[in-house]
Amino acid sequence: MIGLIGAMTVEMELVKERMTERKEETISGITFVQGKLEDVDCVAAVSGIGKVNSAMCAQTMILRYQPRLVINTGVAGGTGKGIKIGDVVVAEHVVQHDMDTSALGDPKGFISGIDMIRIPCDNVLNEKVCLAAQRVAGLICHRGIIATGDQFVGSREKLNQLMAEFGAVACEMEGGSIGQVCYINKVPFAVVRAISDNANDDAHMDYPKFLKIAVHKSADLLCALMPLLSE
Ligand code: SAH
Repeated sequence: MIGLIGAMTVEMELVKERMTERKEETISGITFVQGKLEDVDCVAAVSGIGKVNSAMCAQTMILRYQPRLVINTGVAGGTGKGIKIGDVVVAEHVVQHDMDTSALGDPKGFISGIDMIRIPCDNVLNEKVCLAAQRVAGLICHRGIIATGDQFVGSREKLNQLMAEFGAVACEMEGGSIGQVCYINKVPFAVVRAISDNANDDAHMDYPKFLKIAVHKSADLLCALMPLLSE
């Protein structure tokens, strides 16, 4: 079983439409759709936006369905150099940029308890994601750090900060929390996002304009990935 999580309905509807043998159940307000995507057993869910919703979703999914892999897909703001709207970013690590106990002397982004800043994504899975990306016509795939926080980033100032403090190539609002839940539960995970905006002063205009295009790209990539994940 492979777990698929998107924050918003628009990010998961194409994926759900392409699933067969669907069965649904709702737990704590989150609907989990079990079925086959490209003949591979999957469970797909729309978590809701932000770290709390996405952590709830990931933990519930893991306890109820025991996925062997979790993939967080959807859209993100591109922050790295040369990352364009419509490109795909695959996280090598995720960070939570709004986790901040620096007033106590911890480095910014330090997650107390697991005592780390950067949570590593699964390398084997990432290789397969990049291979799948090559099979989707015209898709450009980047790898790097994705920064997560409970904030839509839409200013040059904030995006410069994310690049300088964390070396982030993209920012979004769920990957870091899903990553933390997966890491603690020892479930390999990937965060794969298509770029909807550049997290800059134009982001509030670009995001609604390019959301649909980006969503199509991430869904196409997920479908190309599935055959590489069948056991
Ligand atoms: N009220 C809006 C909120 C959208 S938030 C709504 O319900 O549609 C933006 C979503 O897209 C989040 O799930 C986040 O993960 C992703 N995202 C895209 N661009 C982003 C950016 N520049 N900064 C932060 N998150 C971004």
